[in-house]
Amino acid sequence: MDYNLCDYNTVSRLLNKHGFKFSKALGQNFIIDETVCPQMAQELKPDRKTAVLEIGPGIGVLTKELCKRAGRVAAVELDRRLYPLLNETLGDYGNFELIEGDVMKLDLKKLLQEKLGGFESVKICANLPYYITSPVIMTLLESRLPVDEIVVMVQREAADRLCAEAGTRESGAVSAAVQYYGKAEILFDVRRECFMPSPKVDSAVIKITPYTVPKYSVDDEKAFFALIKAAFAQRRKTVVNSVSATLGIPKEKVAEALASLSLDVNIRAEKLTMENFVELSKIL
Ligand code: SAM
Repeated sequence: MDYNLCDYNTVSRLLNKHGFKFSKALGQNFIIDETVCPQMAQELKPDRKTAVLEIGPGIGVLTKELCKRAGRVAAVELDRRLYPLLNETLGDYGNFELIEGDVMKLDLKKLLQEKLGGFESVKICANLPYYITSPVIMTLLESRLPVDEIVVMVQREAADRLCAEAGTRESGAVSAAVQYYGKAEILFDVRRECFMPSPKVDSAVIKITPYTVPKYSVDDEKAFFALIKAAFAQRRKTVVNSVSATLGIPKEKVAEALASLSLDVNIRAEKLTMENFVELSKIL
């Protein structure tokens, strides 16, 4: 049966039939707008040679659009109450597979190999549960999954943070980490009224294109990320004070390192570029 998952009455009837109640804790706000999911799916430019991993299909409103366009879609859903619902809404799509489990606990590399291996291109698409937006994105990037593109919906504020360029006021430890792995951009905004139930904030769809060849050459990634975290740990303080207090490196040493890169010793983390962080971590 082909349900219109953007029709309020249809969705309400479906949810009632299965006795489903939204869980705030699981970040359940389902898209109920007709244009958002086709637009998101279109951004991936999928064809039958493309496989897509979705995180949190809900009742399948975005999944359906992905199934119409891609060769195969595997979707990881944690809430078992949604499994019978998904069977009903996506039963007609032979290229859909439900993966039962927690995206934060699964071995995603293995999953991609086993479920989506053999495709020319693998992409990730999701309307992410907001309580784990950054951890999910960082896990996807840090595990260096063999994916070409990641198109996800996040809270508007998170989108600004994730896509901010290092050296600008909105930048932070997360944006620097994202930039290390790939190119991040905001694609379009999504108003809160497009969801059921409607959340308190607006959202945005972002695209991250992971670098196939690393853009930044870093000797010790652990030390590099520790430095970025430390520099932003006390945002209102200078890099010298924040790094020294967090990592226990003497202030003079941090100041010397900044001076050797011709940077102001009173500089704050938001003014440092990615290249600055790379050089600083090599010296420190
Ligand atoms: N894709 C649907 C849509 O756009 O309407 C639902 C999106 S809703 C914002 C987030 C979905 O992620 C929910 O279905 C929720 O149950 C699921 N979810 C929450 N935490 C999860 C986790 N740790 N692993 C997998 N799915 C999760």
